[in-house]
Amino acid sequence: MSAHSLPEKAAAVWHSLEVDKSLELLKTNAETGLTPQEVQQRLQKYGPNELEETAGRSAWEILVDQFKNIMLLMLIAVAIISGVLDLLAWQQGSLKPGELPFKDTIAILAIVVLNGILGYVQESRAEKALAALKKLSSPNVRLIRDGKPVEVVAKDLVPGDVMLVEAGVQFAADGRLIEESNLQVRESALTGEAEAVNKRAKLILPEETSLGDRINLVFQGTEVVQGRAKILVTNTGMQTELGKIASMLQAVESEPTPLQQRMTQLGNVLVTGSLILVALVVAGGLLRGGNLQELLEVSLSMAVAVVPEGLPAVITVTLALGTQRMVRQNALIRKLPAVETLGSVTTICSDKTGTLTQNKMVVQLVYTNNNSFRVTGEGYAPVGEFQLDSNNVSVDQYPEIPGLLVACAVCNDSVLQQQKGQWTILGDPTEGALVTLAGKAGIEKDQWESKLPRVSEFPFSSERKRMSVICQVEEVKTGVSSLSAVDPAIAGMLKSERYLMFTKGSPELILARCTQIYLGTSSAPLTDQQRQRILAENDTMAGKGLRVLGFAYKPLNEIPPEGSDEASEQGLVWLGLVGMLDAPRPEVRAAVQECRDAGIRPVMITGDHQLTARAIATDLGIAQQDDRVLIGQELQRMSDAELEQQVDLVSIYARVAPEHKLRIVQALQRRGRFVAMTGDGVNDAPALKQADIGIAMGITGTDVSKEASDMVLLDDNFATIVSATKEGRVVFTNIRRFIKYILGSNIGEVITIAAAPIIGLGGVPLSPLQILWMNLVTDGLPALALAVEPPEPDVMKRPPFSPRESIFARGLGSYMIRIGIIFAIISIALMWWAYNHTHAAGYQGDPDTWKTMVFTTLCLAQMGHAIAIRSNTRLTIEMNPFSNPFVLGAVVITTILQLMLVYVPPLRDFFGTHLLSPTELGICFGFSALMFVWIEIEKLFLRLMGKKAV
Ligand code: ATP
Repeated sequence: MSAHSLPEKAAAVWHSLEVDKSLELLKTNAETGLTPQEVQQRLQKYGPNELEETAGRSAWEILVDQFKNIMLLMLIAVAIISGVLDLLAWQQGSLKPGELPFKDTIAILAIVVLNGILGYVQESRAEKALAALKKLSSPNVRLIRDGKPVEVVAKDLVPGDVMLVEAGVQFAADGRLIEESNLQVRESALTGEAEAVNKRAKLILPEETSLGDRINLVFQGTEVVQGRAKILVTNTGMQTELGKIASMLQAVESEPTPLQQRMTQLGNVLVTGSLILVALVVAGGLLRGGNLQELLEVSLSMAVAVVPEGLPAVITVTLALGTQRMVRQNALIRKLPAVETLGSVTTICSDKTGTLTQNKMVVQLVYTNNNSFRVTGEGYAPVGEFQLDSNNVSVDQYPEIPGLLVACAVCNDSVLQQQKGQWTILGDPTEGALVTLAGKAGIEKDQWESKLPRVSEFPFSSERKRMSVICQVEEVKTGVSSLSAVDPAIAGMLKSERYLMFTKGSPELILARCTQIYLGTSSAPLTDQQRQRILAENDTMAGKGLRVLGFAYKPLNEIPPEGSDEASEQGLVWLGLVGMLDAPRPEVRAAVQECRDAGIRPVMITGDHQLTARAIATDLGIAQQDDRVLIGQELQRMSDAELEQQVDLVSIYARVAPEHKLRIVQALQRRGRFVAMTGDGVNDAPALKQADIGIAMGITGTDVSKEASDMVLLDDNFATIVSATKEGRVVFTNIRRFIKYILGSNIGEVITIAAAPIIGLGGVPLSPLQILWMNLVTDGLPALALAVEPPEPDVMKRPPFSPRESIFARGLGSYMIRIGIIFAIISIALMWWAYNHTHAAGYQGDPDTWKTMVFTTLCLAQMGHAIAIRSNTRLTIEMNPFSNPFVLGAVVITTILQLMLVYVPPLRDFFGTHLLSPTELGICFGFSALMFVWIEIEKLFLRLMGKKAV
């Protein structure tokens, strides 16, 4: 049997095989895993551990979807009517000499097709971008390879790998359990069953067992809710159960943003409005005895003018650029709406450890048996001294210390490693610091793990705030005679028991479960006085901002049954306190200040002690020294209404459990706050989903929390949330800016066109082709440039905008209408002058030249508009023209293109323009400049009135 066919053949029956048999079939070893050569060979054989992309909509479907847009449908109708009119003119021979028939029809249809193609390209690019984002957020997997624990990207998993998992992990492949401890797995992704399933390694199941009952196997895409396990990878990639039903794959969602939805609504309004306007113009014109064909032409032009053809593309590009800028700053957007809604955040609820602090723990103080020892040394290097009153001491002089350090080493799941001379940890930094501490006194984790092999455990969870391991004492003590067989470090802990349980966690909690205290060679009852001293010492350490853990042990004769943690973790013997420093991230202080200036309230929510939390929050400026700290227990007792009264006042929540986070978010939301919430654990997922912006941690976050989030912080840093919020504001401001710019222009065009027949000028000033040119090129290019306008200096100095308010709120709608009307007045005045000028006796040029003057003025006026609109408050002369060189570039290029349409003969013929004399061109420039002047005067006026512009 070739190795290749092996797993496939066994695929259906892994659950009916013993662990050893499975290991043998996959030619691997549970202790050492595969060698690098074997991994390479298997990678070639089985391919990467990836699910093939599911087939989305077909190209044809995507293309058809593009035409479901009402504005495009209207353009198609315009193209058809315009074609019919041309056909009639052609048949009647009334086409002007040299004029191409069906030009407008072809141009409009070309735009429609182009739009379709653009939409198609955009959608497939968006898919690709999302796939890339998915890869970026693809999890790492902890494995044993070549006898060592390593982390690899999920893609590189192969059958035969030995995988280590713990709570929060999403399985990256299917596998057979080798060993497990309290393992509970949520398999809803596969079976739809929400209840977590208990998994057991030792079972062997009948072959016909159904998928949901194969409790000795785990499946890709399902999540560890609790416990730990060692797993033999049996199937990867498309061979997994999830691969077989890949359509269930949860993709990164690409839902339309609120803005995109509002734009669709706007399209409907514009189309309906323009149809009504067209009906009025045609009816009014006919009543006044107007020419139907001419009125139809006016209507067609108006219909084209009202549609902002360039707008959807500019919005999509802006959002896409926003996500790119955010990812460069380490904020990975998982759901596109987050880009624009981030700017609306009013409250940021952040974890402490790792987000506000560096999560690089160094133990500084150890407190045992009335002695407080300082510990020297930097980072994770196991080199340092124990000091008492500033003097180095040997730990052997204080026999209670080695006992505590053994607890540090074995009640621990992290691994200390030396890579290229650097000491690093694999696992939780809190635990890493403890391994380092033990190492400083020569207590090596590896050695002690073989002396005291772990036989059972009660794992850590944020709810329990503690963990215990049960170890077998290597040499079973049967009597006083064999005392020497037990290492002196723990000899005082045992009489004749076979097992030792070590417990560590939140000091108050552990101490409450202790009845005795360890004195180094024996234990004694714990007095109330001792309790008080320990608690006082705990408060002193926490008050210095240290993260403090308490340690205890319990000798046992039996291995406690699973799930008996409450009963078993009682009657403990107190060992001591360990205080570690987790320095605040240096950049966070400035970020907190920036939040305050921006009207955003930072809130710390931590599982840590209230005094530690307060010390760090005060240091960072999140709270004042005597601000109220709300503790998990108090919160537990509060009703939702009581909590709602407090949430706006409290900036520190300490000793909270993940379910409290959900209540805090909900209370804040009921107060009308727009909440961003960070989280990393499995149980944080509901709060992340509930928050307006759920933020997962890229480094320490579990897969489950990432799946529930809108955004992932690649560097786990609070400052990154603030930068992303700033980007969100910039994106939103720029979108508002070019919507004002584009729609103001559309309103101006429509009024100008409608005015021509009303004031009795013969003919339509602008042909559909010219309008398309304006909307796409002369509006589109500067709008794109405005989309990358750098942040205004006050972007983080003003309060957040509510996401629920209309995009037209705060004066944007009235600005558009006002500017549209000014725009129209300027062009109508010019139109009036130009018409009379070109119809005056003795005029040399074509009498239709007035139309080209209107066309040119409209385009040039928009250039002035683009320059002036860069700031709402600052005058153009107060701004650096090169701070957004794109606007300057777009204006220069567009002006040149516009002049080419008038002065390059083939273009002139195609666009139906007429040659302008230098005076005529000068007049156009003069009228256009009025637009710029008007906006600048408006800014000055608002400034004098002390009002803020939109
Ligand atoms: P944050 O919520 O800001 O990240 P945190 O890391 O303190 O803060 P949790 O990880 O939920 O929050 O930890 C809660 C408490 O549980 C800690 O304050 C500590 O007392 C205890 N604790 C943390 N890690 C461990 C561990 N590995 N073993 C035992 N107890 C722990």
